[in-house]
Formats: sequence, structure tokens, C-alpha cells
Amino acid sequence: MDCLFCKMVNRDIEPDIVYEDDHVLAFNDINPQAPTHVLIIPKKHIATLNDIEEGDLALVGRLQHTAARLARDLDFAEDGYRVVMNCNDHGGQSVYHVHMHLMGGRRFTWPAG
Ligand code: 5GP
Ligand code: ZN
Repeated sequence: MDCLFCKMVNRDIEPDIVYEDDHVLAFNDINPQAPTHVLIIPKKHIATLNDIEEGDLALVGRLQHTAARLARDLDFAEDGYRVVMNCNDHGGQSVYHVHMHLMGGRRFTWPAG
């Protein structure tokens, strides 16, 4: 499958890994929008948030739990952080393998652009 993030899971491309277990992979974003900008992905290929099925619910929870744990480990859990998942064209999704952006180390504004 011609998917950039699957290639990282398979190590056809070597990501800058922050965390890995049997189900998820977390690595630094190549174009960081904050002092820390990590992408957390399921190892299973799921193209968009619209494609999440009943059987994936634990996996999605695992993404969020990984984000919270990394925020704590990277020492910005108390200050706060931003978690974003973009879906399809209007959401600004550019890589079609579900991923959670974890950004920390600065103050974010709201509403999002
Ligand atoms: P999206 O726009 O789909 O929500 O987020 C895709 C993210 O993947 C972007 O933040 C972009 O910088 C990141 N990205 C794109 N290509 C690469 C790459 O080759 N390596 C890494 N580490 N990040 C990438
Ligand atoms: Zn993929």
C-alpha cells in the first residue's frame, strides 16, 4: 500500500520515534508547529476518522491515552497542550492514515484557523 505512515510502521522510512508499542507509533512531525509536535498513529491502516469502526474503539482510546502519557513524560501536561485530528479536505488532512497531532510547549489560540 502506498501510504507514508504505513511505510514508517514497516520501517521502509525511518521515523524519529518518540514511543512505540504493539498498537501505536509516535514520532516527531517533520514540520513542527510547536516546540513539541508529535504524531501518534495506529499501526493499523485506517484512512480517515470516517473509517473508524466499532472494532477500532479501543485503538482510538489508545491514541488519546498515549497523547496524555507523552504530555506528562514531556512535562507539559500541567501547562496544557493541543490535540488535533484532521479529517478530509476541509479538515486539512494531508496524510490519509489516521493520526493524532500532539502539540505542546507553547500557548495555543482558539478558534482554530
Ligand atoms: P495532516 O495535515 O494530515 O493532519 O497532518 C500530516 C502531518 O504529517 C503534517 O503535520 C506533516 O508535517 C507531517 N508529515 C508529512 N510528511 C512527513 C514525513 O515524511 N515525516 C514526518 N515525520 N512527518 C510528515
Ligand atoms: Zn497507512
